[in-house]
Amino acid sequence: MGKDIELLSNFSAYQKGQIKKQIGGTKLADLFYFLPNSFDQWIFSSQLLSSFVSKKVSLIATIEDHVPPTYHRSFYAVKCSVAGASLTLIYFRAYRATLLKKLPLGSTKLICGTLEKTDFGYQIIHPVYVGPTFEQKYWNGYLPNYSAGKGLSSFSFYKIFSQLLKNRTPFAEWLPDKVHQKNNWPSFWESIRLVHQPRTNVEFTGLMPLAKERLAFDERLFFYTSLFKQRSQEQKKVASVFQPLEQENLLKKNLGFTLTSCQESVLHEIFQDLGSGFQMKRLLQGDVGSGKTAVAFLALMRAVLNGYQGAIFVPTEILARQHFQTFSQWLAPFSISTDLLTAASLGQGKLRREKLEDLATGKTNLVIGTHALIEKAVQFKNLGMLVIDEQHRFGVEQRLKLAKKSQSPHLLVMTATPIPRSLVWANSGLVSVSRLNQKPVGRKPIDTRLICLHKIESVYQGLARALEKGGKIFWVCPLIQTSDKLDLGAAESRYHALASRFPNRISFVHGQMDPDARSERFERFRKEKSHILVATTVIEVGCDVPDATIMVIENAERFGLAQLHQLRGRVGRSDQAAFCLLLYGEKTSPDALKKLYVIRDHQDGLKIAQSDLKIRGGGDLFGIKQSGFAHFKLEDPWEHRETTLTDLAADTAEELLRSEQNKIKTKTLEELFRLSFF
Ligand code: ADP
Ligand code: MG
Repeated sequence: MGKDIELLSNFSAYQKGQIKKQIGGTKLADLFYFLPNSFDQWIFSSQLLSSFVSKKVSLIATIEDHVPPTYHRSFYAVKCSVAGASLTLIYFRAYRATLLKKLPLGSTKLICGTLEKTDFGYQIIHPVYVGPTFEQKYWNGYLPNYSAGKGLSSFSFYKIFSQLLKNRTPFAEWLPDKVHQKNNWPSFWESIRLVHQPRTNVEFTGLMPLAKERLAFDERLFFYTSLFKQRSQEQKKVASVFQPLEQENLLKKNLGFTLTSCQESVLHEIFQDLGSGFQMKRLLQGDVGSGKTAVAFLALMRAVLNGYQGAIFVPTEILARQHFQTFSQWLAPFSISTDLLTAASLGQGKLRREKLEDLATGKTNLVIGTHALIEKAVQFKNLGMLVIDEQHRFGVEQRLKLAKKSQSPHLLVMTATPIPRSLVWANSGLVSVSRLNQKPVGRKPIDTRLICLHKIESVYQGLARALEKGGKIFWVCPLIQTSDKLDLGAAESRYHALASRFPNRISFVHGQMDPDARSERFERFRKEKSHILVATTVIEVGCDVPDATIMVIENAERFGLAQLHQLRGRVGRSDQAAFCLLLYGEKTSPDALKKLYVIRDHQDGLKIAQSDLKIRGGGDLFGIKQSGFAHFKLEDPWEHRETTLTDLAADTAEELLRSEQNKIKTKTLEELFRLSFF
């Protein structure tokens, strides 16, 4: 680094401190990644020409006279000549002594500034830069503007980069050819030059964006290579090995449908982990309705058939009961004991003791539970596999508590949120990601319509027709927050209005009622034909009533996009045609309407999330910023794409670390980000 130190030898200690502060660190990469805010185009001219008026020009001028202000508040003029023609430099509030030192009489200087012409001839007001004539070569073409801070000029940074680029040997390339060439990226060294000192118009407009992309990529590549190296050093936890068993085929047959090829391949990935001897830590991501439950079920059954216990942890009582029913149905012909463990079902006294004992002795093979599962009193005999459904509802801490219930249970976390792989890797402690990116066959898009609330009469008539044909309808109302209380008013009055029209065909559930009563009403809805369930958002996550085909969302404008997508996902779960009616208030703002258009026009969760980002302008789709991890200097220019630059960097990091030969390549990259420059 000897050369680099020399580079700063002209700066005072104070200035060096300022440089550190401005670039935000002491590493070589901090300097390289300190990019200009903008560029100015300069023209060097040996003569004063009227065609350069109003342009930024650099000139060689001989200083001929100093004319201090003649009266208070007048200006200070320095008369010069440029190739025989006269030019006046104008300064306001200037000190004679300072200016004489800067522009001594008779000297020849490089003067840079915006050229003007008045009745008195050519002039430059407050030249941007005055320097020795040999610096003229710098003031021609694109010149970067850096936020230089106190005691430094933007040009001092320019000079640092010029020297650095000239004196340092270029770095050897660390990117695999494939990545490098496919994206048309320049080499690292060339990229640094392009972002700091583009020479031509083509470089400025065409190549600089590519160079920036590459630099953003390298930053992330370094982050992920470090992360993965660290991860591979953390000892993999040894866990039980589960073998495939004959009975599994029977279980599969009893599901009532054939798994999609996508479900099969995800299961295959999971089974490989379960047979590896090391603890699985896998995220299963699949849009609403993609069939995650069946995958979780078969994974759990592999543990159970191998003589271990399985558990699935869900966020709500309704969801727990629903899974319990589904699993019980799928398991009906088999002797596998399944239990439900929720605050309501755990009960008190004898029942509670028995339930806990069955779990602790291993009599219960499979348990479905809510937060009650986390209680200290809940002990397993040998928990081999833990599934956490709808992960976004749980904190990492709760997950840790659960995982501690056993030595190292295999862990499968399921979510419908389209979190980028790279973020999962960096944030959650989960090591692998599977995706269910295909819905079961025969699913049609959900016909989604926007209807203004003043046309509610026509909605009622439509529902009446649907009920005639045995239809099942969800009607969701928002809770309205009045001061510190949640107001059920709107939902309640809607319930009464609907009940007077469709008596005996309607139930009402909300979050503030007793869980047993709620489940009972929900069950009734599940079983009966021609029924309406009016609900607050308690039904948002995970509910599965395949023969419900209409979802009405009242005051849809009050819900977030993710919530709307989740709610709509409660229908369209069979091969019947499904509808979603978004009822909006008359006073809905244009922005809120835009949000509803997104739901109407898209069915895919990822697309919706991406539109959300666009609507909110830059937002924080995946909570990256708020998670406080990985602060990158350059933004991900592919943030809106399906595969982000960050994802590609994470993939590339994995690939590089796979072979020893490639691993060596990352050395230079690490040097760049680790070595101190000062
Ligand atoms: P999610 O991924 O949102 O949790 P579910 O697992 O609840 O979705 O599945 C949605 C519905 O699709 C359920 O009724 C389920 O039984 C059904 N299903 C799942 N897989 C298939 C399949 N391969 N073929 C047909 N229906 C399926
Ligand atoms: Mg689900």
